[in-house]
Amino acid sequence: MAEVIVVGAGVAGLASALALSQQGHRVTVVERDGAGLPPSPDAAFEQWPRRGAPQVRHSHAFLARLRNVLRDRAPEVLAELLAAGATEVRFVDHPPPLVGTLDPEPGDEDLVALACRRTTFEWVLRGHVLRDHGVELVGGAVEGLLSAGTTDGAVPHVGGVRLADGGECRADVVVDASGRRSPLPTWLRGLGAAPLDEEEEDTGIVYSSRFYRLRPGMDVPYQGGLVVADLGYLKYAVFGGDNGTFSITFGLYADDREMRQLLFPGPFTTAAAALVGTRPWVEPARAEPITGVEVMAKLINRRRRLMAHGQPLATGIFPVGDSSICTNPLYGRGCSLAVVQAYLLADVLAGHAGDPAAAAHAFDAATRAEIEPWYRAATDQDRTSGDDGGPDMASLVRDGLLPAARTDPVVFRAFVRSFNLLQPPGAIMSDPAVVKRVLAAWQARDSRPPSEALGPERDELLRILAEAAA
Ligand SMILES: Cc1cc2nc3c(=O)[nH]c(=O)nc-3n(C[C@H](O)[C@H](O)[C@H](O)COP(=O)(O)OP(=O)(O)OC[C@H]3O[C@@H](n4cnc5c(N)ncnc54)[C@H](O)[C@@H]3O)c2cc1C
Repeated sequence: MAEVIVVGAGVAGLASALALSQQGHRVTVVERDGAGLPPSPDAAFEQWPRRGAPQVRHSHAFLARLRNVLRDRAPEVLAELLAAGATEVRFVDHPPPLVGTLDPEPGDEDLVALACRRTTFEWVLRGHVLRDHGVELVGGAVEGLLSAGTTDGAVPHVGGVRLADGGECRADVVVDASGRRSPLPTWLRGLGAAPLDEEEEDTGIVYSSRFYRLRPGMDVPYQGGLVVADLGYLKYAVFGGDNGTFSITFGLYADDREMRQLLFPGPFTTAAAALVGTRPWVEPARAEPITGVEVMAKLINRRRRLMAHGQPLATGIFPVGDSSICTNPLYGRGCSLAVVQAYLLADVLAGHAGDPAAAAHAFDAATRAEIEPWYRAATDQDRTSGDDGGPDMASLVRDGLLPAARTDPVVFRAFVRSFNLLQPPGAIMSDPAVVKRVLAAWQARDSRPPSEALGPERDELLRILAEAAA
């Protein structure tokens, strides 16, 4: 069994520690946010210093793909999450009103996501791997990689990590789970590796999030999982949390200066009360804010490959999570992809023990097959979310798929599967039964009564904000 160093104790690092320790490897996680484990989920949310992963206090969706991996490969973690206050969101139990009650079908047991705060998810996962899997956590910042010679006489082989305090940790395998700001290209250059194959796009989106807690005796106004809306000039969503919490996130366009007022508590509250999807959640009698407004910008899509011309750039090093593939947070996929990739790595190492080159090839192939398509899907989705009105994919989604998913049980189930990463990107539009219904909805787009607007036009929202500020 291998000695493994994991850089970073975010979701990707902890999931890697879980998956690899389950296979008998000895795992040490090195995390620059050195603080210990808080005593409870609420303490984790309120006090845990997580400067290294500031998104932990933004809304997070935990999709069915992630929940199903836990159910199948780490059921005790799923049980601990539920015991800590997370809830399962059973989509089939709460279809849109026009879909009506659904008769059970095989596969419905997979259509279940998790609702909890990101800090609660990490708190459970960190506690579990430290307590039940003998994983060691070392506080400190990794500054570079240690060389362990070459593979096949030419490819740099990684043999551990160098810490900022001058210390060294030797290992057979290093997992880079240091997130979207991972300096992996610099680290590899330090070993003499050829440049990484990397692609990056700015999403142009700024996140503005606020958490709320239900007042005693109050319940959420809607049980069916995410509330999501795109007003064209502003996207918004409501996310279920744990222990009576929920959160609201606005996705603004970075270049929309007037809308930037939503980064501040007063206008945030005014807007939340003005939008159809958020209004019932923030009624003062139902819930109260428990945070200010958290803001995060420079949100990117990025993919990295450690292969060039069919050869690994380095062996003994495996990027997992955002360090490998980072996708627009609007689609809520990062944690799910990180957990899936962690188990892909564990399976690769189990199948290629003692053969670093074969492991590098197999991990690259698995990442390209299972994870990378979601990078491409995110960049494609970002490009088609504009309002061009033509009979192209954007129009088919807006005027066909989404309306049909609100009324037709077949399209609704297919949409839930797709949204939750339970089928490859694009598969929904290659299912003849779904395509037939989507096309029918698209053809009826002009005769359909307009659906309820999910919020005011931009000018009207600006007017409401100005009036509230006066
Ligand atoms: C605003 C926002 C909202 C998001 N919403 C969702 C969502 O709804 N659903 C979803 O699934 N995903 C979401 N994501 C993505 C999700 O947060 C990440 O994909 C997921 O956390 C996996 O990240 P990671 O573990 O690779 O990195 P991170 O979670 O960023 O963790 C990296 C860790 O590495 C540590 N670290 C960094 N450098 C070093 C170093 N040199 N030495 C030691 N430690 C180091 C950091 O301190 C940190 O703890 C969102 C992201 C953002 C930015």
